[in-house]
Amino acid sequence: MLGGMTTANVKNTAAIEVDETYVAHNYHPLPVVVAEAAGAWVTDLDGKRYLDCLAGYSALNFGHGHPELLATAHGQLDRVTLTSRAFHNAELGPFCEALATLAGKDMVLPMNTGAEAVETAIKVSRKWAYDVKGVPADQANIVVGQGNFHGRTTTIVGFSDDPGARDGFGPFTPGFRSVPYGDLAALDAAIDENTAAVLMEPIQGEGGVIVPPEGFLREVRELTTRRRVLFVADEIQSGLGRTGTTFACDLEEVVPDIYILGKALGGGIVPVSAIVANHDVLDVIHPGNHGSTFGGNPLAAAVGHAVVDLLATGEYQQRAARLGQRLDEGLRALIGQGVLAVRARGLWAGVDVDPALMSGRELCERLAARGVLAKETHGSTVRLAPPLVIEEGDLDWMLEQIGAVITGRTD
Ligand SMILES: *Cc1c(COP(=O)(O)O)cnc(C)c1O
Repeated sequence: MLGGMTTANVKNTAAIEVDETYVAHNYHPLPVVVAEAAGAWVTDLDGKRYLDCLAGYSALNFGHGHPELLATAHGQLDRVTLTSRAFHNAELGPFCEALATLAGKDMVLPMNTGAEAVETAIKVSRKWAYDVKGVPADQANIVVGQGNFHGRTTTIVGFSDDPGARDGFGPFTPGFRSVPYGDLAALDAAIDENTAAVLMEPIQGEGGVIVPPEGFLREVRELTTRRRVLFVADEIQSGLGRTGTTFACDLEEVVPDIYILGKALGGGIVPVSAIVANHDVLDVIHPGNHGSTFGGNPLAAAVGHAVVDLLATGEYQQRAARLGQRLDEGLRALIGQGVLAVRARGLWAGVDVDPALMSGRELCERLAARGVLAKETHGSTVRLAPPLVIEEGDLDWMLEQIGAVITGRTD
């Protein structure tokens, strides 16, 4: 037998070898090979089950294989899957109507991945600045928050401050200014007459579930309105029920000018992203200005519509809020026993482990050995984001496993 290989994980070990040979090394996955999944649970090639507490970085808010989402996808697969936007399709309009209604906005521009939706918001903001606000050609700037994560395109990584995401990929697109996240005075100072937008995550997900100071989002809304700047909220990870509200902005009763959505909008089945805004913003886009071959395709629109229908009941938001309290309390009980800080909103938590005890990676490896899948964001911070459909008993079990790993119990 090869070193470390046991009969219990023989198929996983072989599959990981193939991955390491043929899949580019742009990720460092935990040594778990998922073969099947249902609800909040996944099963590896050797039949071991794990509780999925990452949920595809919140793309799986409704769990694996949600029956209504699957039924919608199956039905649509047999009707029509792709038309391009050269023609209308029967699914796109109703999906956009439902999503606009959910967000309290006028209209939707559909794309596929999160990064594309962020790019779309950047383009729309710049065009709004030139066409509506009267900023001189090519002078528009956009203010972003330090520690941001908005995706992986060359423009977007250009305003990241993560060296791993950025170094080696320049030269970068000009026109972005970065200020400390949560610092209103710095934001105010960065805005000038050519500022098109403030682009921020209402809670920074990859940053480690960083929650801005109380009242900050309201102040950003007030400041951007007063300075005639668009407030663009990247809710790709924070939105669609995760925080116990439809949008994280709802936690402060704030309405941005543009919502950027992705991840859970595709129900964990297909990539679906969008920006959602009012006419005064989205009407700057005319035929030929922007588009996507796959954006708004009938399969994506049908699944996205089913996702919006799930959210329209409010059931998932309430569940995230209720179970989120349990998650918060359970994690807080570990503060002082190896956990330094906990930041939780709904079923979403950033846990800072004492670096002297173990790294975030090590915690995730030990959790995986106990059947819990989670992912460090960086250093000693681990993000927990189970599907919103997680059973209460499973959540308690997950908290027990974390407690056991942190306090070194070996039960
Ligand atoms: C994941 C994420 C993105 C990028 O989405 P992709 O679908 O991976 O391109 C952008 N913004 C935030 C806040 C995200 O969490």
